[in-house]
Amino acid sequence: MSDEPTKLADGITPAPRERARVLGHVCEHEGCGKHAGFGFARPRQDQHWFCFVHRADGERHL
Ligand SMILES: [Zn+2]
Repeated sequence: MSDEPTKLADGITPAPRERARVLGHVCEHEGCGKHAGFGFARPRQDQHWFCFVHRADGERHL
């Protein structure tokens, strides 16, 4: 066992209630539609979700 925490991506720390919902999200990249494990959101704004391949797309929402 490692003591290293699971890391989603640099600077991405979903709130606990959002982490529980993560499996319900789909990548927003046009034509992708894969499971989105990476969420991007600014306070009081809509959330945007992307898969591993397209997670860089979400940075424009930050
Ligand atoms: Zn994708």
